[in-house]
Amino acid sequence: HAKGSGRNQFQFFSEELNRTTHERLEIEAAIDDALEKNEFEVYYQPQLNLATGKIESCEALIRWNHAKKGLLAPGEFISVAEESGHIDAIGRWVLRRVAADFAEFSAAGFSNMRLAVNVSSPQMRVIDFAAFVAAVVAEHKIPAGCLELEVTESMLMSDTEQAIATISSLTAQGVRFSIDDFGTGYSSLSYLRSLKIHHLKIDRSFVADVISDPDDATIVRAIISLAHSLRLTAIAEGVESEQQLQFLKDEGCDMVQGYLLARPMPLADCIQFAKSYGKGA
Ligand code: C2E
Ligand code: MG
Ligand code: MG
Ligand code: MG
Repeated sequence: HAKGSGRNQFQFFSEELNRTTHERLEIEAAIDDALEKNEFEVYYQPQLNLATGKIESCEALIRWNHAKKGLLAPGEFISVAEESGHIDAIGRWVLRRVAADFAEFSAAGFSNMRLAVNVSSPQMRVIDFAAFVAAVVAEHKIPAGCLELEVTESMLMSDTEQAIATISSLTAQGVRFSIDDFGTGYSSLSYLRSLKIHHLKIDRSFVADVISDPDDATIVRAIISLAHSLRLTAIAEGVESEQQLQFLKDEGCDMVQGYLLARPMPLADCIQFAKSYGKGA
């Protein structure tokens, strides 16, 4: 980009940069306020178990009901929160919220619903992270296996020792781990030997063109096969079409998640949605 840029283009870029910096500062300043005013909300996106045809797990995805800007997706504030250090407070809020919401699933008859929470690198680096998670699980009496944490390959590569210690301590207590966006990060795969991971989540960029691009189809098959060889389950993210779903069924993918089934939605809607598939195991 920079090479061919004339003067006008440079100005354009620097204005963009300023605006972005200003917006980031604005968001940063508003986060504490938002936590206090309870403006964050957790949406849930159901995951379909292809073997049972039931909804046995859901991914928790944060939203921000911003007083002026409306409903904000994580793309608009999570990276700012990570850089400013606010992610720790947000992450703790999300985990408590999800733990409390588990009781709602349970009361609706889904006493084994697995709830998956995204965790980013700076959260895992906080020294008492494992202890905090364990305390929340105990306080809310979440059964072993019902809380899952989604981490990325990049996190495992950059914080290796600490990440291994944290994950090992939590898996020993029954918390499950998924590798999110699998296939997109820098990875040596060696962590798959040393860590007790449960699921590989096939990144939606591979799923998107699985019908039209033979290379993407090969990658998706390879990830499913890798997962099964290691006795892990494969979850496909971003499933938007019947053809993609059929491909994934044919290839033995274990679970699917995506707009074809349902978008992320408020807790009560997700419970209703899960009911429409019948009670799980
Ligand atoms: P992710 O964990 O990979 O979550 C999947 C994202 O894909 C979600 O975006 C979801 O709404 C979207 N998605 C699901 N199905 C489809 C589909 O069929 N098509 C398309 N195009 N997209 C689909 P969302 O909710 O905007 O979240 C974005 C990212 O923000 C998440 O990616 C996750 O990395 C992060 N995030 C979300 N909630 C939290 C949180 O509570 N804490 C932290 N640390 N990160 C979070
Ligand atoms: Mg995720
Ligand atoms: Mg993902
Ligand atoms: Mg992600």
